[in-house]
Amino acid sequence: MDLLPKDSLEIIRNADRIVFLTGAGISNESGIPTFRGEGGLWKNFRAEDLATTSAFQKDPNLVWEWYDWRRGICQNAKPNAGHLTIASWQKKSKSVSLITQNVDGLHPRAGSHSLIELHGNIFKARCTKCSEKFHIIDDGLDKPGLKYCKLCESLLRPDIVWFGEEYNQTLLTKSWEYCKQSQVVFVIGTSANVSVPANLAQTAVRNGAIGIEINPEETNLTASMKHHFDGKSGEILPKIWNEVFPNEPIK
Ligand code: NAD
Ligand code: ZN
Repeated sequence: MDLLPKDSLEIIRNADRIVFLTGAGISNESGIPTFRGEGGLWKNFRAEDLATTSAFQKDPNLVWEWYDWRRGICQNAKPNAGHLTIASWQKKSKSVSLITQNVDGLHPRAGSHSLIELHGNIFKARCTKCSEKFHIIDDGLDKPGLKYCKLCESLLRPDIVWFGEEYNQTLLTKSWEYCKQSQVVFVIGTSANVSVPANLAQTAVRNGAIGIEINPEETNLTASMKHHFDGKSGEILPKIWNEVFPNEPIK
């Protein structure tokens, strides 16, 4: 059975700009737990209690231990059909943008270009004093525990936007622009509990984009979407691709 009606398929095929907005759910099928789903707890800590500046100031060892554990999971994970479908779409058309809340690096590993990682990247660290950035693996900082700056020897922190912290303004401005100009916005695997990504999706819809949500649960964005697909993104996205581009393989 077809997922999308003819009029939506036409809009997607003729769109000058398409935006994919992704959250932790898209990486769930790669074995990376979402924060609020099963496996989201670590040693009984909730993410909200560890991913904050105050948690890091209180116990940087604990926070690094948590990130070292999560980074290990991300390193061993592989992009799934959902990531690969978006990457194919981007290879096909330059006007397809990808904005992710994920920090796991699976979108770039799937081959996605012009990616906006709104919340940072788990493979990167930043100096708490001089702000220099490092790649945890390429710069040989992957020994578990505290990590120090190679320039000024101060403590490094994960290069992640923690709860309550400011977003990178340049990335945010670019994201608003993409969303305002889009005719189609896909909202995939995000609970929309974090206000900035939810506002980005709403902005796209308010400016005339059709919203397509893929999520096994309803969210507070569902009502404003034109289509909601209750299912796994690794299964639904390839089906949508096949309807939009019949007979074209996902590369
Ligand atoms: P979330 O944990 O709040 O929500 C995940 C959503 O994904 C839920 O609504 C769930 O129903 C849905 N989902 C689960 N499996 C799915 C599947 N197979 N296909 C489609 N949807 C599926 O995650 P969030 O909204 O991204 O926000 C939480 C924050 O957690 C973000 O800031 C993000 O940076 C961070 N986070 C990132 C990762 C990652 O990088 N992979 C993992 C966990 C948390
Ligand atoms: Zn430094």
